[in-house]
Amino acid sequence: MRSWSVPDVPSLAEQGFGKGPRATVFDSSSQSLQASDPAVQARLYVCGITPYDATHMGHAATYLAFDLLQRVWRDRGLDVLYTQNVTDVDDPLLERANATGIDWVELAERETQLFRDDMTALQVIPPDHYIGAVEAIDLVVDLVQRLEEAGAVYKVDDDLYFDVHSDPTFGSVSGFDAEKMAEVFPERGGDPDRPGKRHPLDCLVWQAERPGEPAWDTQLGRGRPGWHIECSSMAMHYLGNSIDVQGGGSDLIFPHHEMSASEAQVATGERFAKAYVHAGMVGFEGEKMSKSKGNLVLFSKLRAAGRDPMAIRLSLLAHHYRSDWEWFDTDISGGEKRLAAWREAVGRTAGPSGEKLVNDLREALADDLDAPRALEVMDNWATDDSTEDESAPETAAIAVNALLGVKL
Ligand code: ZN
Repeated sequence: MRSWSVPDVPSLAEQGFGKGPRATVFDSSSQSLQASDPAVQARLYVCGITPYDATHMGHAATYLAFDLLQRVWRDRGLDVLYTQNVTDVDDPLLERANATGIDWVELAERETQLFRDDMTALQVIPPDHYIGAVEAIDLVVDLVQRLEEAGAVYKVDDDLYFDVHSDPTFGSVSGFDAEKMAEVFPERGGDPDRPGKRHPLDCLVWQAERPGEPAWDTQLGRGRPGWHIECSSMAMHYLGNSIDVQGGGSDLIFPHHEMSASEAQVATGERFAKAYVHAGMVGFEGEKMSKSKGNLVLFSKLRAAGRDPMAIRLSLLAHHYRSDWEWFDTDISGGEKRLAAWREAVGRTAGPSGEKLVNDLREALADDLDAPRALEVMDNWATDDSTEDESAPETAAIAVNALLGVKL
């Protein structure tokens, strides 16, 4: 499906600042910082939305984290190939459509468009391939058939399940023990108690048609894809067998990322992602911000209330992507103050060294995308009244746009 418009990302190399440093990111599977420095092309897959409600601050923070990673990679001189899915047919979407009396296709299209508008306003670099599950049914069927050939898929009634034990490394993405897996699986869409399953954690890869629900005619019978295999099949098709980073919110680590990695690995025999990178959860009024709890702070509402998207972006970047944090309504005023101070500072006729600023911003972001530190670097530059460098204000505006995605 159509992606969204590409923001202007200036090149610091073209400004004479050379290439940025290599990035390190925190890999959940090894619980360690890892260098992410592909030779030429960096391949990124980030799990997309289920389009039944608008973008909240938790979503926005997640996509911003991977936007920073793309900016660091690009600044390093790498070509980035990025795929993101839209889970445009799934239980929560169909339930919402039923409950509100809106056609599920219409609901998905409307909310996907709102997400595109939000991402555009936030200056998030779009994926090269933005793919709906509905568009990827052939890819899913193909992967399920490969897994069937490998003996990793079995039938329960007319549904098809993936046997998690066919992957000897199952469990290595999340590092969860059996008890933790058993606790989390049913909370995040799993069906451990279904009779006929070989193992409670086995996951659905193909769901046969249910009365009143959409279904497609395929070689697997009439039905629709399971959630995890949607992502593994798209990543493999658009990015290749082994990718650099699989990203998403930390609530996707299990079962979603564990399952999609296992499915891909059983099919290819290769490790699915070099690093599994997870963004923290954003809370509001003492609880995780989520659709099911109904405590959402919506990006589109802040925009409609006249808040500058760049101030919203700064409010989000003030928190490290890996930390869990709570949104307070006062966060936005922090972002607005900072934006005003930075805009004023780049309007000066001279400032402290632009080269040092570029180096310090690059260093902060290359170190596990440390945006709060980068913001502090720019704050210090903006409040320093030295006039040693006449080109510094222009350099600062370019660097902040290139690396932090904030247009001053
Ligand atoms: Zn996914």
